[in-house]
Amino acid sequence: MSRKVLEEILTPQLQELHEKGLYNVIDTVEGANGPIVTINGKEVINMSSNNYLGLANNERLIQKANEATKQYGVGAGAVRTINGTMTIHNELEKRIAEFKHTEAAIAFQSGFNCNMGAISAVMTKKDAIISDELNHASIIDGCRLSGAKILRVKHQDMDDLRRVAKEAVESGAYEKIMYITDGVFSMDGDVGKLPEIVEIAEEYGLLTYVDDAHGSGVMGNGAGTVKHFGLSDQIDFQIGTLSKAIGVVGGYVAGTQQLIDWLKVRARPFLFSTSLTPGAAAACIEAINIMAESTERVDQLWENGRYLKEGLKNLGFDIGHSETPITPCIIGEETLTQQFSRRLMEEGVYAKAITFPTVPKGTGRVRNMPTAAHTKEMLDQVLAVYGKVGKELGVI
Ligand code: PMP
Repeated sequence: MSRKVLEEILTPQLQELHEKGLYNVIDTVEGANGPIVTINGKEVINMSSNNYLGLANNERLIQKANEATKQYGVGAGAVRTINGTMTIHNELEKRIAEFKHTEAAIAFQSGFNCNMGAISAVMTKKDAIISDELNHASIIDGCRLSGAKILRVKHQDMDDLRRVAKEAVESGAYEKIMYITDGVFSMDGDVGKLPEIVEIAEEYGLLTYVDDAHGSGVMGNGAGTVKHFGLSDQIDFQIGTLSKAIGVVGGYVAGTQQLIDWLKVRARPFLFSTSLTPGAAAACIEAINIMAESTERVDQLWENGRYLKEGLKNLGFDIGHSETPITPCIIGEETLTQQFSRRLMEEGVYAKAITFPTVPKGTGRVRNMPTAAHTKEMLDQVLAVYGKVGKELGVI
């Protein structure tokens, strides 16, 4: 009976998504995630991954993952607080803290878990969270879970932040007030205005929380957006993922020893979900080692980003106002954006269309994620295809 009810509810909704072309068909990558991937038997240039430094299939990381798997096994066997904390997890947290220039760090199984856990462990229904309107879904869900009052502010609008912070403080209604922002916003590639944010936070006594999922390994010679601005002591929560530039999986908070001690007894995904696999933890440590040895990969990433942006701009495309290697190519209307992305794919370039409701109506874009692993020849090929498809569809 209950299954029939579910079917009755889901059938028209799924039908509507299919009819409107909004049902997201998931592509399967056949093999490793690199600058070239095979999808449906076709080799294409991959402009859609967050594998910024090309570490996802790096030999050194693979070797460390294999060694740790042999030493520790494939799984941790329990949650961190029961007996799922292995030497390799402690080593990873120590390495992250060093890398982030903080007293301590805590690792989670994903960046998503990290935001869910960290926000809800610290903020309560007596508090308020001021959140940039374009913050990531995991931040939004973490805020909701905390029960705190959520005060959304206009994207990167410091006047709006100041106004909302002032009102919240003057209301006297909250025990704590926190401001949360992405370090780098993944849809447009713009960078959080951290120096101004810190100034406002000091003025109004706000806690500061920066989710640097797209800034770690990219900004600040790899150490992230907070380091880029020299604000390691002023940002209370530095969040990152181990799944993008680091190339593996997981998430972390870096901060004071006291904050990390608290999260280790209160962050629910840490307490109630089995810890990272030992192989993943070992691979993450090696990725941090590689970044610490040289900035070569980070430099190459930026060089590739500059080259791609320049090329697309010269072709006549609107590439928005990205300040990072993330390169959106704004197409506009939703159906045209989808069609553009499909044509790129047919021509051997895999760049996903991002349309409403992920971005505002009429600002559909094809988002390009250049990585350190792309060669100049690959980027030239991407530009040639953009030129061809752009003319064909009347975009340029
Ligand atoms: N925060 C931001 C800003 C992100 O872009 C993402 C990844 N999409 C996450 C958190 C979640 O990270 P993960 O994929 O490691 O769960």
